Amino acid sequence: MPELPEVETTRRGIAPYVEGREISEVVLRQRSFRVPVPEGLENALVGRRVGTLSRRAKYLLVPLEREGEDPATLLWHLGMSGSLRIVNLGEPPRKHDHIDLVMDGGRVLRYHDPRRFGFVDWLKGTVDSDSRLARLGPEPLSETFDGERLYRLSRGRRLAVKPFLMDNAVVVGVGNIYASEALFLAGIDPRREAGRIARERYDRLAAAVKEVLTAAITQGGTTLRDFVSGTGEPGYFAQRLNVYGRAGLPCRRCGAELRAVTLGQRASVFCRICQS
Ligand code: ZN
Repeated sequence: MPELPEVETTRRGIAPYVEGREISEVVLRQRSFRVPVPEGLENALVGRRVGTLSRRAKYLLVPLEREGEDPATLLWHLGMSGSLRIVNLGEPPRKHDHIDLVMDGGRVLRYHDPRRFGFVDWLKGTVDSDSRLARLGPEPLSETFDGERLYRLSRGRRLAVKPFLMDNAVVVGVGNIYASEALFLAGIDPRREAGRIARERYDRLAAAVKEVLTAAITQGGTTLRDFVSGTGEPGYFAQRLNVYGRAGLPCRRCGAELRAVTLGQRASVFCRICQS
């Protein structure tokens, strides 16, 4: 599933090919997604110029300008299996290539999504007023997210620290992989009650979240060329992971067998020696 680093890498990968370009044609081969493609989207987009792309949580924001009209934004979510890539005009679509935004100059932004849990929606007015974005907590790589915030919001909370860390109201974009890895780096047992963890341990946890996400984004940068290849999928990168997906294997730090538990309906792998 595309997580925050993949969405951020996508943003960086496609930006040079779409920013400042005008959309000359929209091809929709499929309208049925988690949110159906809005009626009339094709006409609304043609002739608009793409502004500076941004990202909020796992949403990609594509501002679109046209002289004499209020700015609007495409809100793009990659869902479980979505990906965006750049192809040359005339490149035949493959199976599950559902949406093309044709740019002036001959490049095409192409959306591929086998499971169709992703979506693209059209926002008028300011992005901040959209209810999907308004409720979100801070970005994990921003200064607003730190150990003090984790400590303050966790007081009196009895749930385990891992689902607490994955709550979008606490911080956005920390999915199962990165929550598991950050808890390992910080030496915190994912089952520990959120409200009973000391401030200094939350400082370590916030730093670990930033570290694992930054490493993933940096690594994603090495696969940027894949966003402009006509073949294959854009590179969703396999990081060297310490615990996620490694239940039953030896801990890389101490050699003990890694264990899996279920927390908040999600599998959690951890080391009972290194994490307490
Ligand atoms: Zn260990």
